Amino acid sequence: LGSSLRGTLDSLRGKSRIDEEDVEKVVKEIQRSLLQADVDVSLVMELSDSIKERSLEEEPPGGTTARDHVLRIVYEELVDLVGESTDLPLEEQTIMLAGLQGSGKTTTAAKMAWWFSKKGLRPAVIQTDTFRPGAYEQAKQMCERAEVDFYGDPDEDDPVTIARDGLEATADADVRIVDTAGRHALEADLIDEIEEIESVVQPDRSLLVLDAAIGQGAKDQAQQFEDSVGVSGVVITKLDGTAKGGGALTAVNETDSTIAFLGSGETVQDIERFEPSGFISRLLGMGDLKQLTERVERAMEETGEEEEDWDPEDMLKGEFTLKDMQRQMSAMSNMGPLDQVMDMIPGMGGGLMDQLPDDAMDVTQDRMRNFEVVMDSMTDEELENPRAIGASQIHRIATGSGQGEETVRELLEQHKMMARTMKQFQGMGDGDMQRMMQK
Ligand code: GDP
Ligand code: MG
Repeated sequence: LGSSLRGTLDSLRGKSRIDEEDVEKVVKEIQRSLLQADVDVSLVMELSDSIKERSLEEEPPGGTTARDHVLRIVYEELVDLVGESTDLPLEEQTIMLAGLQGSGKTTTAAKMAWWFSKKGLRPAVIQTDTFRPGAYEQAKQMCERAEVDFYGDPDEDDPVTIARDGLEATADADVRIVDTAGRHALEADLIDEIEEIESVVQPDRSLLVLDAAIGQGAKDQAQQFEDSVGVSGVVITKLDGTAKGGGALTAVNETDSTIAFLGSGETVQDIERFEPSGFISRLLGMGDLKQLTERVERAMEETGEEEEDWDPEDMLKGEFTLKDMQRQMSAMSNMGPLDQVMDMIPGMGGGLMDQLPDDAMDVTQDRMRNFEVVMDSMTDEELENPRAIGASQIHRIATGSGQGEETVRELLEQHKMMARTMKQFQGMGDGDMQRMMQK
C-alpha cells in the first residue's frame, strides 16, 4: 500500500511541472490508504481537495521537483489532519481518563504514570473503577510494575468517594492520574458517574482513551464525552495490532482536540508521545515519510540561501555579464536547468521559454563544468566586462584554467548569445510579456 504511494510519488521524480492527472493519482493512493486506516470519508475528502488545489495552484519553490512539491503539500495537509501533539507541560497537574470499557484506560494510566516518572516528576494513579471486577488489582499491579504511587480502595463502592480520598492520599504527587470506570456502552449512569468524578477532581485535562480499532463509532463517543466532561486530548491504544487508529481522528475532529499519547503494547513502557510524522507514516504505511520530508525541507533551505544571493529576476536588470552567467550556472546546479529557472520568474512561465531557439539556453553539464573552471581563472574586470577580453587574455585564461583556448572562446560565444536573449526581455512590461506569450 505505502509502496504504491511511493511508486506514484517516485514517478513524478523527473518532472518539473505537475498536472492534474499526476495529482489525481497521488490523491487516489492517499485516499485508499487513509480509508483503509479508518479515517472518516469526509475528512479524507477535505484533505484530498486541499492537496489537489494546493498542488496545482502553488508555485513549487526554486529547486523543488514536482515530486517534492507534492510530497511537501501532502505532508503539510496530513499534519493538519492529524494535528499537533496535545500540549502537556511537565508540571503539577491532574489528568482524568475517560473512555469505554476495554479501551485501555487502566493500562494507559499506569503507562502515563511511568512516562511522567521518566520525565522526573512524581506521578500517582487513582483508581476509581468499582464496576469492573479485578479493576483494583489490575491497576495496583501495573503501578507496581511502573514503580509509581497508587491509590485505590477495594472495600469502597462509591467511585466519587474514592476519587475524593485519592486526591488527599496522593497530595505529595506532582501528576495525579485518575482512572475511571467504563461500561460496554455509553449508558446514562456512566456519564453521570464520570461527571460527578470530574466535578470532585476538577482535572486540568481529560483524556479520552480510544482503541485503535474504534472506526466510526468514535464520533458518538467523542461527542458524549465532550458534552459531559470535555475532551482536551485523545489517547489511542493498541496500535501494536493491525488497526491504524484513523477512526480516532474523527474523535479529535469532533472534540476539536489533539492526540496526546499512543499505546502500543501491554507493558507499562509501551507508550509514546503522539508525534504527527510518525503517526502519518503509520497511517499511510510509509515507513520513511519523515525522512523524505526532511530531505525536501533541507533542499528548500539550501535553495532559500541561494535565492538570497541570486534572484533569477536580476538577469533581466542591466547588462548580463559573465558574473551573472557564473552565478546563474552555480544556481542551476541547485535549481535545475535554466528553462526551469526561467519559469520561476513571474511572468516568464507558461511556455515562454519554448519560443526561444533551442540552443540559446542549452549548456550541457560537462560544458558548464568547464565553463566554471574557465571563469574561475578570470579577473573580476573580465567577468564584469567580457567584451574587453582580447586574444592575449584568452591565452592567459586558457593556460590558467588548464582548458583549451577553444573552451574560453566557446564560453564567450555562449555568453554573447545569452546576453542577447536577456536583452530581448529587458524593459518589457507585463503587458509585453503577456502579448509575447499569446503569440
Ligand atoms: P480499560 O477497561 O479501559 O481500563 O482497559 P484496560 O486497560 O483494562 O485494557 C483492556 C485490555 O487491553 C487489557 O487486556 C490490556 O492489556 C489491553 N491493552 C491496553 N492497551 C493496550 C495496547 O496498547 N496494546 C495491546 N496489545 N493491548 C493493550
Ligand atoms: Mg480499567
